[in-house]
Amino acid sequence: MTYQDISASGRRAGTNSPYGGRSAAPVPPPGLPRRGPGGRRALAALFWLGLVAAVLPWWFDTPAGSLAGRTDLLTAAGRITGLVAGYLLLVQVLMMSRVGVLERWIGGERLSRLHRDLGATLLVAVLAHLSLIVVGYAGLERKSLLGEVGSLLGNYEDMVSAFVAAGILLTVGLTGIRAIRTVLPYELWYHLHLTSYAALLLGFGHQFSNGAQLFEPGPVRTGWIAGYLLVLAALVWGRVVAPLHFNLRHRLQVADVVAESPDTISIYLTGRRLNQIDMLGGQYFRWRFLNAGGWWQSHPFSLSAATNGRWLRLTVKVVGAHTADLRDLRPGTRVWAEGPSGTFTAAHRTRERALLIAGGSGIAPLRAMLEELPPGAALIYRARTPADVLLHQELDWLAQARQTSVWYVIGSRNDSGPRQVMSPEGLRRLVPDVTRRDVYLCGPAGLVDEAVRALRRTGVPRRQIHLATFEL
Ligand SMILES: Cc1cc2nc3c(=O)[nH]c(=O)nc-3n(C[C@H](O)[C@H](O)[C@H](O)COP(=O)(O)OP(=O)(O)OC[C@H]3O[C@@H](n4cnc5c(N)ncnc54)[C@H](O)[C@@H]3O)c2cc1C
Repeated sequence: MTYQDISASGRRAGTNSPYGGRSAAPVPPPGLPRRGPGGRRALAALFWLGLVAAVLPWWFDTPAGSLAGRTDLLTAAGRITGLVAGYLLLVQVLMMSRVGVLERWIGGERLSRLHRDLGATLLVAVLAHLSLIVVGYAGLERKSLLGEVGSLLGNYEDMVSAFVAAGILLTVGLTGIRAIRTVLPYELWYHLHLTSYAALLLGFGHQFSNGAQLFEPGPVRTGWIAGYLLVLAALVWGRVVAPLHFNLRHRLQVADVVAESPDTISIYLTGRRLNQIDMLGGQYFRWRFLNAGGWWQSHPFSLSAATNGRWLRLTVKVVGAHTADLRDLRPGTRVWAEGPSGTFTAAHRTRERALLIAGGSGIAPLRAMLEELPPGAALIYRARTPADVLLHQELDWLAQARQTSVWYVIGSRNDSGPRQVMSPEGLRRLVPDVTRRDVYLCGPAGLVDEAVRALRRTGVPRRQIHLATFEL
């Protein structure tokens, strides 16, 4: 049999760990308040307003008919792209500040995607600004392009730092390209990315000493500086003050490490006032384990159990050096956490019922979310072999306690059973009201892509499909 319905078989004994196998929510919790798309729309409106406000000073400063020649046009386009680039750089940094309001309304994964997409636009704006200004000024001053670059670097204040800032942004932008990013170790990519703060600082002076609209003191210059201060405040708040407050308040430490399968472990954490952490099943934290080998790196892992006031749990698949080291964590190791992050939660659903589709360790956030979804959810869990099914006993128990239908679909993606189940017909047969459900997907990219295609063909609207790819 390639898949089996195992719903409602009752809870079985957990692992030998004093923490392992305990259910987080013996009584179904009350329904979560929904977090609709209103906040996201308001933030999107703010973004566009900010962009208009950034370019408007140029518009007011440019008398009608002043853009007569080609060089005037080029220089004007150079100034506009400069203002756009300055604004986008601030937005980019703001998006990565991790302030609560952004994390709550947009979510860490979506912020990362937007950050990547906007990063490409920022890069184009910076390159366009640079080349348009060089070509435009060379035309005005009747110089060669190289001569103009020399003149800009030699005669204009803060121009060298502006060129360095552009170089940094270019390097960071290139490492964002998927093909390049995937061959870089995550930590190297991350630390390279941190140099964008230097670009922010290096570009700051140039905007005010050379920017035609920002040179003169006045409301425009003051507004621009206020934007910088706001972003700086958000950065300090999101990256320093809030995490410091969280970690001093909760003082998390490793309680136990439990093997779930040969290549997967669960890490149980204890701490103070755990019942006061405002988090939802399906969200993730960035974790820093403060032992000799781990303190310098922070990795994202989802919670694999909903909040219960006694412990937190992550379930981790060993894929590289860091996750391999986590197997040797000792009880008592202090942990630094940043979060919670993410909108992959029951509170962000649009419909009453949900279908969850998991592959491999992708079960972690879905397992936590199952405790907070209304009864009647359905779970399809794809695994290569029965031994790859994680948290099996808890899923059994949840199936009963939360009236959840659970199907384990075992086999490789080419086996006829899984192929049939994951087809539009198979999904419709298993979950007849699938188009009226939110669908949450978490697992390897291949599985997620295939499942999204099948769901769309089945008629599930895109807004009802929620993805967690374990990729930031
Ligand atoms: C929001 C989120 C939630 C996650 N939740 C879980 C979870 O609950 N359980 C779990 O087992 N894993 C989870 N992950 C994945 C986990 O963060 C990585 O597997 C882990 O950081 C790998 O570290 P490593 O040093 O062992 O492997 P590495 O040697 O760093 O990487 C192995 C492979 O994974 C890729 N990778 C590593 N870290 C990341 C990252 N942060 N973003 C994108 N690609 C990465 C690398 O490019 C490489 O291909 C999650 C990831 C994200 C982004």
